[in-house]
Amino acid sequence: MGKPTGFLEFERVKEHYAPVEERVKHYGEFVPSLTVQEASTQGARCMDCGIPFCNNGCPVNNIIPDWNDLVYRGKAEMAIRVLHSTNNFPEFTGRICPAPCEAACTLGINADPVGIKSIERYIIDTAWENGWVKPQPAAVKTGKKVAVVGSGPAGLAAAQQLARVGHDVTVFEKNSRVGGLLRYGIPDFKLDKNTIDRRAAQMEAEGVVFKTSTLVALDNNLPAGVANDATTVVTPAQLDAEFDAVILAGGSETPRDLPVPGRELNGIHFALEFLIPQNKEVAGDGANPINVKGKHVVVIGGGDTGSDCVGTSNRHGAASVTQLEVMPQPPVQENKELTWPYWPLKLRTSSSHEEGCVREFAVSTKEFIGENGKLTGLKLVKVEFKDGKLVEIPGSEFELKADAVFLAMGFTNPLAKVLDAFGVEKDARGNAKATTEDEGCYATSVPKVYAAGDIRRGQSLVVWAIREGRQCAREVDAFLMGSSLLPR
Ligand SMILES: Cc1cc2nc3c(=O)[nH]c(=O)nc-3n(C[C@H](O)[C@H](O)[C@H](O)COP(=O)(O)OP(=O)(O)OC[C@H]3O[C@@H](n4cnc5c(N)ncnc54)[C@H](O)[C@@H]3O)c2cc1C
Ligand code: SF4
Repeated sequence: MGKPTGFLEFERVKEHYAPVEERVKHYGEFVPSLTVQEASTQGARCMDCGIPFCNNGCPVNNIIPDWNDLVYRGKAEMAIRVLHSTNNFPEFTGRICPAPCEAACTLGINADPVGIKSIERYIIDTAWENGWVKPQPAAVKTGKKVAVVGSGPAGLAAAQQLARVGHDVTVFEKNSRVGGLLRYGIPDFKLDKNTIDRRAAQMEAEGVVFKTSTLVALDNNLPAGVANDATTVVTPAQLDAEFDAVILAGGSETPRDLPVPGRELNGIHFALEFLIPQNKEVAGDGANPINVKGKHVVVIGGGDTGSDCVGTSNRHGAASVTQLEVMPQPPVQENKELTWPYWPLKLRTSSSHEEGCVREFAVSTKEFIGENGKLTGLKLVKVEFKDGKLVEIPGSEFELKADAVFLAMGFTNPLAKVLDAFGVEKDARGNAKATTEDEGCYATSVPKVYAAGDIRRGQSLVVWAIREGRQCAREVDAFLMGSSLLPR
């Protein structure tokens, strides 16, 4: 429980961000882990509230009060064992989770919540530094073979869980490196890709086989805007013949478009057409064909993806960066009495915003304008809610100069082509249809084919993908063996 009086004695420890002018010069991480003393003080603030809402607010149900206490007492080695019991990859969540646990922290009702995410990161970074994270190969092999399609956090979590209980797991990934959006969506300055490489190495030592540049589909043609490095195609029929179970963990990759006049102009790109090549450039895989140095950039969409375009544009040296959001600006401070312990609607300012960005709320794009086929600006209009609907405010039209636009309005659905190739039934939103509770959960309409992560739930978060991968692994293990000792 930390120190009984810690929450009265200590302020929340703020993580040290490198100054903006320094960090925009490179693509590396700029937030170091807490020191031992800082982590101990951070953990000391956990107040043993009795009902740990944080544990419930965390999608993988991390046992937060226990490791807060262990860190306060300097027992990081024991803390990593507790943390790994619920989360395969705390180095990812400790860096990029939005931390719904902290929104649910009881101390947060009338003070700053415990800095849970920073403690999680401290524990796992300390564990790697000290060599406490080791491969855990299964003592006994089952002889069962499982194919996992997609190597994002859902696929990786499922694969690791299944390998550890003795199944032969092969992960198929169409891109040239593993990690899904951890690798190719989220920029290096938020998540160092070495964190993925060392996990993949651990998993290989546990028996997982990765087949990269391998697309599971009927052919190698995917829609525009979807990354695909595949040189080999494996069909669902081949997987059916070779494997005892298949997990679809292909994410939700169809980007939402903005089909207004002028969409065809040069200079308008889906966000991932900018972010993926940037990650590849940083990895030494060739230059990003989109360079926004000296350009006026407009990012459409106010979420994580948009924010990553802002941070990357500033690192390119853009002349200006503007981010547009169609929804009205939320309050800076949430009403705790109305929202706690749930995730509140409030203005979120990311580290990328702090690096330089004009944010416009309640604006809608009417048209892209250009000259000689090249984008020069946008025609925008202010909008407001009327009778529950967003409507244009008459006479509020204005223009904004732009040389580059990034569309970051989310992803509508997984690749229908892949789901159709398996014959998997879809839900109303086009996701793989499968439940998460009760008998038969995570199973699709096709025998021995399961689905987890964004491909099932739609565009979401890394921590939800890890949860689904773990839970799905348990269902697959039970299907193969009759019962399972894996946790849900
Ligand atoms: C730019 C961006 C930034 C984000 N930032 C954050 C953040 O800060 N924090 C957070 O929690 N979440 C963030 N998210 C969301 C998060 O990344 C996703 O919710 C999460 O990665 C989903 O995990 P997944 O395993 O289901 O799918 P993905 O990570 O999408 O992985 C799916 C993988 O499957 C592969 N694949 C698909 N189909 C096939 C096939 N047929 N054959 C072979 N391989 C296939 C794909 O190439 C991909 O590598 C962000 C998303 C984006 C786009
Ligand atoms: S995974 Fe996310 S929600 Fe869970 S403890 Fe870590 S930061 Fe909090």
